[in-house]
Amino acid sequence: MIKEQLALVEENIQKACERSGRRREDVTLIAVSKTKPVGVLQEAYDLGVRIFGENKVQELTEKYAILPEDIRWHLIGHLQTNKVKYIVDKVELIHSVDSLKLAQTIEKEAAKKGCVARILIEVNVAEEESKFGVKVEEVIPFLEKISHFEHIKVEGLMTIAPFVDDPEKNRTVFSKLRQLSVDINDKNIDNVNVSILSMGMTNDYEVAIEEGATCVRVGTGIFGERDYSKKA
Ligand SMILES: *Cc1c(COP(=O)(O)O)cnc(C)c1O
Repeated sequence: MIKEQLALVEENIQKACERSGRRREDVTLIAVSKTKPVGVLQEAYDLGVRIFGENKVQELTEKYAILPEDIRWHLIGHLQTNKVKYIVDKVELIHSVDSLKLAQTIEKEAAKKGCVARILIEVNVAEEESKFGVKVEEVIPFLEKISHFEHIKVEGLMTIAPFVDDPEKNRTVFSKLRQLSVDINDKNIDNVNVSILSMGMTNDYEVAIEEGATCVRVGTGIFGERDYSKKA
């Protein structure tokens, strides 16, 4: 089943790239495997998937310990400062940096481990109260505060768009994030180069690609519905 779903997602990504005059290699598919058991991830791995997204630190580190070493792990969910130390040298990218305190902790823990953490700033474009993320107008001041951190490399922006029935409704959310990335790059902030736009999930990744997403985070579309009643 994963094989067919993955093929369908791949086809949709290719079509969205064609519609918007973009190259397929400029869009990275992150397979969001939260709540799925390692056997399911192994199945995706055997089909060629190498980039997995998880939203919980403990789940990520458990899977990290068991699954093949060449998997590139992305932390896409809210990150608590006390958990940074467990993942800072294990993940390829942290998508969800949304506060100065968190950035300071990542800086400190990355320095201890002698690594540079690649991060995205999570932006609450739609200003939903229930969501984490920095407000659009606060992103540039935030970047100016953290740009001198030596063990952090800001590589882009991430947003979680609202849950909507029609993905077209999220088009302006995605175009706003892209415009923000242009505005940031125009500022030429030292050490900040926004090239990654992590936006689009199962319901809206095609629209997100049309609006410039370079990373789409697809869970249900690959693995099917999640069952939160039993532990992964
Ligand atoms: C769960 C999750 C996704 C994937 O959602 P689907 O609708 O299953 O594709 C993407 N991004 C984040 C941050 C998530 O937590």
